Amino acid sequence: MTDDPLPQTIIHNYIHGQHVPPTTKQYLPVLNPTTSTPLATVPLSTSTDVTTAIHAAHAAFPAWSGRTVKSRAGILHRFHALLRQHAHEFAECIVRENGKNITEALADVAKGNETVEYACSLPQLMQGKIDRVSGEVSCRDRRDALGVVVSVVPFNFPLMVPLWTLPIAVVTGNTVRGWIGSSDFYPNAIVQNPTRVVQQCLTVWLSKIVLKPSEKVPMTMNKLTTLFEQAGFPPGVINLVHGTSEAVEALIDHPLVQAVTFVGSSPIARLVSERCHALHKRCIALGGAKNHLVALPDCHVESAAADIVVSYAGCAGQRCMAASVLLVVGGKESSEALVRAVVEKASRIEPGTEPGKMGAVIDGASHAKILGYIEQSERDGAEILLDGRSWIEKMAGRGGNWIGPTIIRHRNKMDRAMREEIFGPVLSVYHVDTWQEAIEIENSNPFGNAAAIYTTNGGSAEWFCSRFRAAMLGVNIGIPVPREPFSFGGLYGTKSKYGDMDITGDGAIEFFTNRIKITTKWPAPSAPEYTVGVDQEQHQQEVGVMQNGGTDHANFAGRM
Ligand code: NAD
Repeated sequence: MTDDPLPQTIIHNYIHGQHVPPTTKQYLPVLNPTTSTPLATVPLSTSTDVTTAIHAAHAAFPAWSGRTVKSRAGILHRFHALLRQHAHEFAECIVRENGKNITEALADVAKGNETVEYACSLPQLMQGKIDRVSGEVSCRDRRDALGVVVSVVPFNFPLMVPLWTLPIAVVTGNTVRGWIGSSDFYPNAIVQNPTRVVQQCLTVWLSKIVLKPSEKVPMTMNKLTTLFEQAGFPPGVINLVHGTSEAVEALIDHPLVQAVTFVGSSPIARLVSERCHALHKRCIALGGAKNHLVALPDCHVESAAADIVVSYAGCAGQRCMAASVLLVVGGKESSEALVRAVVEKASRIEPGTEPGKMGAVIDGASHAKILGYIEQSERDGAEILLDGRSWIEKMAGRGGNWIGPTIIRHRNKMDRAMREEIFGPVLSVYHVDTWQEAIEIENSNPFGNAAAIYTTNGGSAEWFCSRFRAAMLGVNIGIPVPREPFSFGGLYGTKSKYGDMDITGDGAIEFFTNRIKITTKWPAPSAPEYTVGVDQEQHQQEVGVMQNGGTDHANFAGRM
């Protein structure tokens, strides 16, 4: 278990490359979830602090805008190497302030760096299209970044979730100064003459980001600012503002802010999305989850059980992709082997932050909420197959918010623990007789993040994958995170996603850019100098083919 050798730190905002004390007098303590030891204090920034950060981001435009997308990606390449080099330091910081185990914390860093890796490829991924759409008319599009964008993140992945948005937001923010003269774009008759090649300069907005870390885990992102500087990000391109609702509301409302990404609980995701959309701002707001796993009688018991335990108890169940409900299909006898194996494996987990152990939950409020669901289930007549409350006594006197892996067998599918997000190491088990019943339970839950099927039959897996009501599906994988280049995000229209698009992958490229469409017509010169000595009849034919207006009935250019 991690000691807290660091003296308590006062965290400041990070604005224009400086750690700036905020104007607020209000601070919150940051506690180590495994020991309750104070680690730091974090400011509750005011709207004045937010305005300072946004103006700094906006003022960064000239320093960043002369760069090509390749040069911005170059800085990100350096950042990627630095983060890899310092992965252990960051993982230790995550363990200290989040309470997960060191293996999970290293994965937090590595997964965050995968999005960085993806964003390093943006020069190859984000070009626009170009086509000759009729006669002499060509159309092209380009992606302009949005301007100042804001990311608000939760506590459960102190590094990975901020890095879902940050790298793509800053690399898509581009100022392109390009010379364009391609034979696809310009009619041959024009590009044949080098003196007539059209030179064009495109100036595109850039994104600067203001990130609001979780007030429960502000230290990791605060520490990451040293790597932003070492990598060479100019001041003001990435800014951090700490705080809670007041800071978030001020960030959304500021007129210079063009778009907001949010990851957190469903009620706040909904508030953020509605506030942004009322101001006509682009928003993606990912909310909570209630992920269902379905196990068929033909599943591979050993591997399914191991996977289910990692899914529901890993990171102490504080993952939006964690298993929450296990629906076992078939008679109790056939499914009992799987349930027994899950209980047996989970019961062997020990408390701690070393590899293979399970850490503490984030705070006292979360601990009390989880206990409440277990007690309510008991009162509703459910059977507690594995009782994590035993850890309270086991860890008494050491501080921290300890609750062990818990498995509840429900008799009533309407129990609250079966329907609501708990966000702790609790698995609800429910027996169903048919596939249809399993699908009905999964489909009727109001969330839509992830779902998984355990079976050794491909056809059965397909049956479920085409009926689940969730956006990230797993076959024999209980944490079906779509890794890069696939986009991460729940199902729109459920409590797991409000707003637009996905938060990583090509969903994020789309989110962080506007597509500007340019339609161009270059009339052919009537007596061009290059036609001297050229067969005039052939030239007239070429021009005729190029203009081709007579046969293109959909061409409005120059005609009424
Ligand atoms: P939370 O909603 O309490 O906080 C998330 C962020 O919102 C924090 O930065 C917080 O300061 C801010 N915030 C809190 N109250 C606010 C308010 N009234 N107005 C504006 N902003 C406010 O979530 P959490 O407890 O930090 O994280 C856990 C939740 O996040 C779970 O519900 C989990 O499922 C969800 N989550 C979802 C995903 C996903 O991809 N769908 C990923 C990770 C976590």
